[in-house]
Amino acid sequence: MSDPIIYPCFLGPYGENNDLLEKLVVEFLRDHVYWRRNLHPEDPPAIPTRAADGPAYRDFEARLRRELHSLSATLKRSVPFHSPRYLGHMVSDLLLPGLAAQILTLPYNPNNVSAEAAPVTIDLEIKVGLQLARMLGFVDDPALPNCAFGHLTSGGTVANYQGLRLALALKAFPVALRAIAPPGLAIADDDWSAFNLTPTAAITRYGQWLHWLQGQPVDQRPHWQQQLNDQRIEFLGLAKFFTQHTELKPPLVLAPVTAHYSWSKGMKLLGLGRQQLELIPERGMRMDMAALEARLDACAHQRQPVLMTVAVLGSTEFGTIDPVHRILAARAASAAAGLGFAVHVDAAWGGYLATLFRNPDGSTRPLTEVRAAFEKFPSAEVHAAYAALGAVDSVTVDPHKLGYIPFGSGAFVCRDQRAMALLAEDADYVFERETAEDYFKRFRQLGRYLPEGSKSGAAAAAVYVTHRVLPLDHDHFGALPRESIRATEAFHNAALAFAARMENRVRCQLPFEPDSNLVCLALNPVGNRQVATMNAFVRSVYAKLRVDPGMALQSREFFGSMTTLHPNTLGSIDTERILTALDLDAESLHADHADADRLVILRHTLMNPFMLDAENGISYIDRYFDYLERVIATL
Ligand SMILES: *Cc1c(COP(=O)(O)O)cnc(C)c1O
Repeated sequence: MSDPIIYPCFLGPYGENNDLLEKLVVEFLRDHVYWRRNLHPEDPPAIPTRAADGPAYRDFEARLRRELHSLSATLKRSVPFHSPRYLGHMVSDLLLPGLAAQILTLPYNPNNVSAEAAPVTIDLEIKVGLQLARMLGFVDDPALPNCAFGHLTSGGTVANYQGLRLALALKAFPVALRAIAPPGLAIADDDWSAFNLTPTAAITRYGQWLHWLQGQPVDQRPHWQQQLNDQRIEFLGLAKFFTQHTELKPPLVLAPVTAHYSWSKGMKLLGLGRQQLELIPERGMRMDMAALEARLDACAHQRQPVLMTVAVLGSTEFGTIDPVHRILAARAASAAAGLGFAVHVDAAWGGYLATLFRNPDGSTRPLTEVRAAFEKFPSAEVHAAYAALGAVDSVTVDPHKLGYIPFGSGAFVCRDQRAMALLAEDADYVFERETAEDYFKRFRQLGRYLPEGSKSGAAAAAVYVTHRVLPLDHDHFGALPRESIRATEAFHNAALAFAARMENRVRCQLPFEPDSNLVCLALNPVGNRQVATMNAFVRSVYAKLRVDPGMALQSREFFGSMTTLHPNTLGSIDTERILTALDLDAESLHADHADADRLVILRHTLMNPFMLDAENGISYIDRYFDYLERVIATL
C-alpha cells in the first residue's frame, strides 16, 4: 500500500537509510572543512598539528567524550517519534533532505536576521515563503506587486503573534493617516470607518499614501513621514492611541473555542489583553457559523471593532477544520456593513495537507479528484476550506509538524507583501512597480519585519531543500499527507471494528468524524454511567500509552496521547450527543468536580508514514487496537 516515493524520504523506523544519511553527513562535513582551508590556503594551521598529543588536549577530549556518551545514553530515553508505534503528539520521523541540509548548514552558522549575516540562507528563507505561498494559493511571483510574503519563525506560536501584529498595524494605519490629513488624500469619513477597512482596503490606502508622498517636494517628505509615524499605534502604544481616538474601542479577536493557547499568549503579549479574545462556540468542533455571524452583527451594532477572526485548519486537540470559505463570506458581509477585519488561518497543524489539493501548476484539484485516493476524505466542507485559502489575509504553518522538519520551524505567510512595510522597524517605502530583485532586496533585511532577531539560517536551508526535493503539490510532497490520511481512514475503520468486537466490554466512540489525520476515541466500560468512573478508566488506559521516564521504552508497545472534552468547548448539543452515545448520566458531569467536569479521551496523531507497512504486511494500526484490547482486559 505505501507509495515507494516515501522509501528514501526518512531515516526510517529501523534506520534503514543510515548509509544514505551517513554518506551525506560525512561528504558535506568534509566539504565544509575544504571550504575553510580554501579561504586563505597560505595561512598556516593556528592549532598546532601536535596539539592533540598534549595532556590538556587529551584531557579535554576525554571529558568531551564522556559528556557526549552520557548525553547520548540519556537521549535514549527520548520519545521515539520516528516509530510507527508512536501515535501521540504532532511529530514523527524527520525528512532526510531537511535533516541533511540542516546538519550541512550548521557549521556555517548563518544568521537569518539580515543578509550581512546570511548572504545565502536569507534568500532561501524568502523562497520558502514563496513556496508556502504557492501551496496555499497565494500569488507567488515576486515581480507582481500583490505577491505574498512568508518567513520562518521558531514555531506556530510566534507566527500567530506575527499575524496579530500585522492585522493591528493594518487596522490602525488608516486612522493615523486620517489624523495627519494629507491635503487632497481621502482616507475615510471618520475614525470608525478608517479603523474598519479590510486589510485589502488598508493596503490600498497605504499605496495611495506613498503615491501622494512621492508627489510632495523632496524636502517635505521626511516631515510628512515623521508626522504619520507619530500617529501610528506602534509609536503611541495602545493606551495613547485609544485616548486620542475616543470613538474607537480596543478591538476583539474572535477565535473558535478549539483555538491553540498561543492565541491567549499573543493577546497578552500585544497588550490587547486576554479579555479581548472571544472564543466562538463550535458545532462538531468546527466554527459555529451562526454564532460567529450573530457575534459580528452584535459588534457592528455596538460599534465594537474586531481585529481578526481566526480559522483553525486542523485543531490541535481534534484535527477538525473550520469552514474558511464561510468565514470569508461572513467577513465580506460584515465589511459591507462597515465592520472590516482580518481573517487569519491557524494552519500550524493542517497547512501541509494543502499539498493534496494543489496541482504542480498551482491550480486547485477538484473534490472528486482529491477524493479518488481515499475512502471519504475530504468532505466537501474540508475541500472548500482549503480551496478558499488563497483569499485569507495571513496563515500560520508549521514545517516542524506535518512538514517533518526538525523543531524550530514555524512559518508565517501573508497574502500581500505590501502589508509588511507597516511592520518595518524603520520607515519603509514599497512602491507599486517593483521587480523581483526589489522584493528580495527589501526582505533580505528580514530582522526589520520579524518579532525575532537573530535566527537560524540552517533551519531555513532545511525547509528550502525539503521543498525543492519534494515540491509542495499533490504529485510530490502530497505523498506524505496521502499516507497519513490513508492511515487515518484505516484507523477509523479499525476503531469501528474494535468498537463492535468490544461491545460487551466497553463502549467505544469517535466523538467527531475526523476532518484530517487526528482521531480521538472515547472509551466507557459497559454498564458505567458515571463520568468520573469513565475518566479514571481512560486515564488508566492512557497510563499504558504514556512515555514514563522511569521505565524502559520497550516496556511500552504503543505511545499515544490524551485530551479532554469540556462541556464549555463542546457546547450543549454535542455534549448531550456524546454523553448519550457513551451511555453516561448527564447528571454525573459536574462543573465543580475536578475529575468529572469534562470527558477524558484518547487522542491519536496519525502522521507516521509507515503505519501500514506493506513490505512486511503489518498494520501497526491493527496491532494498536489489539494492544488496547489487551490493556483493557487487564483493567
Ligand atoms: C501546534 C500549534 C500551534 C503552536 O505551534 P508551536 O509550533 O508549538 O509554537 C498553534 N496553533 C495550532 C493549531 C497548533 O496545532
